[in-house]
Amino acid sequence: MTNSNAIKRPFIIAGPCSAETEEQVMETAMRLKAGGQVDLLRAGIWKPRTRPNSFEGVGEIGLPWLIRAGKQTNLPVITEVANAKHVEATLKAGFTHLWIGARTTVNPFAVQEIADSLRGTGTKIWVKNPINPDLNLWIGGIERLKNVGLTDVNAIHRGFSSVQHKTYRNDPMWEIPLALKTEFPSIQLICDPSHITGKRDLLQPVAQKAMDLIYDGLMIESHIDPDQAWSDAAQQVTPERFTELISSLILRSEQANESTINEDLKSLRLSIDEIDEEITALIAQRMKVAEEIGAYKKEHQITILQPKRWEVIKKKQLEYGQEKGLSIKFLVKYLEALHQESIRHQTAVMNK
Ligand code: PEP
Ligand code: MN
Repeated sequence: MTNSNAIKRPFIIAGPCSAETEEQVMETAMRLKAGGQVDLLRAGIWKPRTRPNSFEGVGEIGLPWLIRAGKQTNLPVITEVANAKHVEATLKAGFTHLWIGARTTVNPFAVQEIADSLRGTGTKIWVKNPINPDLNLWIGGIERLKNVGLTDVNAIHRGFSSVQHKTYRNDPMWEIPLALKTEFPSIQLICDPSHITGKRDLLQPVAQKAMDLIYDGLMIESHIDPDQAWSDAAQQVTPERFTELISSLILRSEQANESTINEDLKSLRLSIDEIDEEITALIAQRMKVAEEIGAYKKEHQITILQPKRWEVIKKKQLEYGQEKGLSIKFLVKYLEALHQESIRHQTAVMNK
């Protein structure tokens, strides 16, 4: 996963969830700058909130605060836009970097309106994943921006709304951003552990995981007095704690030099290759049996799909797999894939 938009890795975006006062924006910026770990200064000016009567951002008056903080610290600045009016105001104020929030990426009309108002500007834009786990909606948003001629279009992974997730505010579903990177190999993929976790104590392991998945950078919310923040208080950290967090990250390299890979690792990799081969061979063998079953079903005029039988298999394997330490999420996906492939083989026999 190499990046064509040559950037420093990790590329770090930091700043408060929301701009609250000019002093708060300026002090955050100065203290972040002092830590030497930030590349792009963020603050939300318009806050799309789930319910009205929450703090919805200071609005346009905050734009020059961020511009001044950027000048003072010699850092580029970025804010969120959700419609053409926001784009117009930010461009007028001098912004060259913008992001589109998760609640906007879900709406193709809004993204198209933003794209149209950015045509010909050369703005650098980051698209957050939509709040629902729909890879195509995310891809579509990026395409709309590329289609108007923007060349620096990048992505921010902030997790997906979920009623189920017990630990995090948003379910990371890492497979989705990784699939996005496969679709757009040269895109800069940034992880936003603040909105994924919703809790400051969980930021570090998620940031480290992103580094180990070869993300290009991080977006982390930082506030001079996190507990008093007007939005997202529980997930913000002081600029000093932010600096410590970034300094604590271990940056492992993607390519190990063959000669330095030790014998233990080589032999472990060999075992993995052998096991993978056995798994594939066993699955192929399972499909051969499925084909025999398909022939039997054809002869006796019974349906391919046998829901009750499938429920029994699934229950048994879910229990067994979990006993063996496999996650239920993995088992469900794996068993569904196995079942679909099996149906495909049986259908081929049936239609012969
Ligand atoms: C934010 O970055 O403060 C924000 C509103 O994020 P998201 O769109 O990811 O919820
Ligand atoms: Mn926030």
